[in-house]
Amino acid sequence: MIQLNGVRKSFGRNEVLKGVDLSVNKGEVVVVLGPSGSGKTTLLRCINFLESADDGEMTLGATKVNFRHVSSKEILHIRRQTAMVFQNYNLFNNMNALENVMEGLVTARKMPREQAREMAQKALDKVGLKDKYGAYPLQLSGGQQQRVGIARAVALNPEVILFDEPTSALDPELVGEVLSVMRQVARDGITMVVVTHEMSFASDIANHIVFMDGGVIVEEGSPQEIFTQPKEERTKQFLERIL
Ligand code: ADP
Repeated sequence: MIQLNGVRKSFGRNEVLKGVDLSVNKGEVVVVLGPSGSGKTTLLRCINFLESADDGEMTLGATKVNFRHVSSKEILHIRRQTAMVFQNYNLFNNMNALENVMEGLVTARKMPREQAREMAQKALDKVGLKDKYGAYPLQLSGGQQQRVGIARAVALNPEVILFDEPTSALDPELVGEVLSVMRQVARDGITMVVVTHEMSFASDIANHIVFMDGGVIVEEGSPQEIFTQPKEERTKQFLERIL
């Protein structure tokens, strides 16, 4: 589904991704772990071109791009196949839940409003917000806002959903409802790449865990391998600190 080869990205003189190779199979949930500043968010943002990587290649579904010379048509094509769930929800505060979910369908996907409304309602029902179509973000709890964020991603029916620390802005008591919606999305067989610090969630939802540090993938494997028999010293130290 996604294949990254040699992805590099610098901000000025700060090289944040130093040649990342990653494979994500269709229907798989890949969890990306690593200390703050290791490049996890930047990696996700390069996959959907919220940032432009400086070098490397990416295959997403049937589209293959070289980050050194990528056309705007290719970028559009990749963006259509991905959706992102942000740490801070990124909802439009002047639109209600339904309008937030409809927006991308109508503007980016050019879907007729009636059809978009139907898709948006289905997506909101799926995340347990059937009774909140008309609610504005500021009338919703953080957990509900993030569920709108997930509904918006699901409604786009992308090849892959990228989750960037989706629960880290939430009060602890609201984390569970968001993780449970994410579990349901995973059960539906949607390919997911998830940056999170929720270790127990990672260990039971992930098919594959990737540990990043200093802009490279230090180690990867099954949750069992990473959590119980990490091979690399940096992975061990990270897990000792966080668990
Ligand atoms: P992580 O998600 O693992 O915490 P990030 O990808 O957010 O790591 O950040 C990696 C590094 O890139 C950090 O040093 C951060 O300061 C830097 N960085 C991220 N985004 C930008 C940006 N837009 N401009 C400059 N530096 C950035």
